[in-house]
Amino acid sequence: MKSADVAKAGLGTKAVHAGQSPDPTTGAVMTPIYQTSTYAQSAPGVHQGHEYARVTNPTRTALEGNLAALESAKHGICFSSGVAATDAVVRCLRPGDHILASNDLYGGTYRLMRQVFGPFGIESDFVDMSDLAGVKAAMKPNTKLVWIETPTNPMVRVVDIKALCDIAHAAGATAAVDNTFASPILQRPLEWGADLVVHSTTKYLGGHSDVIGGAVCTNNEEWNEKLRFLVKSSGAVPGPMDCFLTLRGTKTLQIRIERHCSNAQAVAEFLEAHPKVGKVYYPGLPSFEGHELAKRQMDGFGGMVSFVLKNEDMEDATTVMSNTHVFTLAESLGGVESLMNHPASMTHGSIPAAERHAAGLSDTLIRLSVGIEDVSDLIADLKQALERI
Ligand SMILES: *Cc1c(COP(=O)(O)O)cnc(C)c1O
Repeated sequence: MKSADVAKAGLGTKAVHAGQSPDPTTGAVMTPIYQTSTYAQSAPGVHQGHEYARVTNPTRTALEGNLAALESAKHGICFSSGVAATDAVVRCLRPGDHILASNDLYGGTYRLMRQVFGPFGIESDFVDMSDLAGVKAAMKPNTKLVWIETPTNPMVRVVDIKALCDIAHAAGATAAVDNTFASPILQRPLEWGADLVVHSTTKYLGGHSDVIGGAVCTNNEEWNEKLRFLVKSSGAVPGPMDCFLTLRGTKTLQIRIERHCSNAQAVAEFLEAHPKVGKVYYPGLPSFEGHELAKRQMDGFGGMVSFVLKNEDMEDATTVMSNTHVFTLAESLGGVESLMNHPASMTHGSIPAAERHAAGLSDTLIRLSVGIEDVSDLIADLKQALERI
C-alpha cells in the first residue's frame, strides 16, 4: 500500500501495512531481516540512509514506522526491552528532578526509578492516580515527569489519561503513558494529550511470548531527538530478528486483541459469579470501579483479569495456581497462550510489601493474562482448579 493510503486507513490495516512495503531490490513482500552491523558508503559520508546498525537498521525502521502509525505518532523509537524504553525516558531527567508515578504499576518500573535512578538524585513518588486531587497535591515544583499506567498492573485500575496529562502540563511536566496493557488497538494515549507512549512490545504487540522488546512513540520533536540520541549513545537496541518477530506479531494484533477481550470478559463474568471468588478486577464488569471511564477512554476492556478468593487464604490461592492445565503459571502477559501469575511473589516482588499493601495489592491476588484459546476450555480449567479448595 502507498504510505499516504495507509495513513488514512483503519488500525487493522495499519497493523498489517504501516512502515512496510515490498523490498525494492527483490520484491520480497515481508520486510527482510537485515542481519548486518554496517552499511557500504560510496564516498565518505555518502550512503543510503544507514551507517551503523546501533544507530539504524531497516528491519527496526520498519517496526518503528508500524508502531508509530498504530499509536497516532510521528515517531517510534525501538529499544531492546520495555525496561530499556522506560530507562531511556528517565535518563532524560537530571539530578534534582522528581517523577510522580502510579502506585499500581509494573514492578520493574518501580525498581528502575527507585533503585537505579534514586542514587543518581532522581526522586520518585508513587500515588493512586485514580485520585486526581491526590495527584495534584503530590506534584512538586521539580516534578518533570508524570508516569501513568492504565489499565494498571496488576489491579487493572483505569485512570483518566486526559485529566492526568492536564495536571502534568499545568506544572510544565512531561506526561508518559505505559500503554502495554491496553495496546494501541484499545487506547491511544497521544490522542488524549500524552507526550510519550511507552510499550513493552514483549507483551501484546509481539503477542507470542517469543521476543523481548520496547518502544516509545511521540509527536514531540525534542523528545524524538533526545531518545534517538540515547539509542545511538547508550545502545539498548533490539536486533533485526527481534524486530522481525515483533512486526510479525503486530500484523495480527487487532484480531488477537478482539479475542483476548471476548475471552477475558467471559472469564471475568464466570469468576464474578463463582461462590469461592471474592473481588474480580476487570474493566469490562459493570460492577468494576473504572468501567464507565474505560468505556469512554478505551475501545475494549483488554485481556487482563485479576481476582482474589473470597477467603483470601494463601494456601487456597496456591492450590488454585498450582492446579491449572491450560493456564501456565508464569510471569509476563499478552501472548496467545493463557498465563496465570502471582504478583506478590513474581512480577511485583520488588515492591516492598508495605507499599504493595498500601496500594491495595493483596498478597493473595491472582493475575490472569487471558489468551486466545477456546473460552470453554479456559473456564473449565479455572472451574476444576477452584473445585480443589
Ligand atoms: C513487562 C512490562 C514492562 C517491561 O517490559 P520488558 O519488555 O519486560 O522489559 C513495562 N511495563 C509493563 C506494563 C509491563 O507489563
